[in-house]
Amino acid sequence: MAGQFDGKVALITGAGSGIGRASALAFARDGAVVVVADISEEGGEETVQLIEADRGKASFIRADVSRGPEVQALVDNTVGLHGRLDYAHNNAGIMGAMSSIVDCPEDHWDRTMAINLKGVWLCMRSEIPQMLANGGGAIVNTSSAAGLVAFQGLAAYVASKHGVAGLTKTAALEYARAGIRVNAVCPGFIDTPLVKDVAGGDFG
Ligand code: NAD
Repeated sequence: MAGQFDGKVALITGAGSGIGRASALAFARDGAVVVVADISEEGGEETVQLIEADRGKASFIRADVSRGPEVQALVDNTVGLHGRLDYAHNNAGIMGAMSSIVDCPEDHWDRTMAINLKGVWLCMRSEIPQMLANGGGAIVNTSSAAGLVAFQGLAAYVASKHGVAGLTKTAALEYARAGIRVNAVCPGFIDTPLVKDVAGGDFG
């Protein structure tokens, strides 16, 4: 049976675990060739194996989404390997330990913003020109319930995810006429390694 994404190429960041892995498996099951991107080689390769075991097509490219040149290389290699880019799920993110605004370490603030917010911008900056070359595409950015409301003890995470919501709305306005749909998902609590490390967290 033909899949709805046959002949299409999907790039998913943070696909070595959790939500990104589930997204990668779902895209592959519907026929897309999937590029699994992650900072974790082990997780990324495992996702590729899962997709191949399910008779899908995937390849792993290691990239840190907080670094512009790595993100550009990721998108260039995706197009080099598979000829096009149709869909992107910009999903990589971290939460880290909880702390009050006063106690939040500056390096934690910077790292959270660099991965969760700047990473999404860097990905879209590299992905959009490739989608324009195809005449369109679709992007989903992973925000969070924490992109809509506040959670105590998670200032950097909450601020970064509100930022993803604003960035997504801006990108949607800028590229709608060019045929690129840009949306965000705002999941509630999902049992993945991301939330296991939050000591005493009431995130949901
Ligand atoms: P996860 O920890 O299972 O997966 C995150 C993946 O991102 C990991 O494979 C990790 O290696 C990768 N990653 C981390 N930093 C990276 C970087 N700099 N570059 C590339 N890859 C990197 O977590 P998850 O729960 O699947 O989270 C995925 C996304 O969903 C995140 O953006 C998270 O904020 C968001 N989210 C999760 C929940 C939840 O309850 N789990 C709720 C709302 C939103």
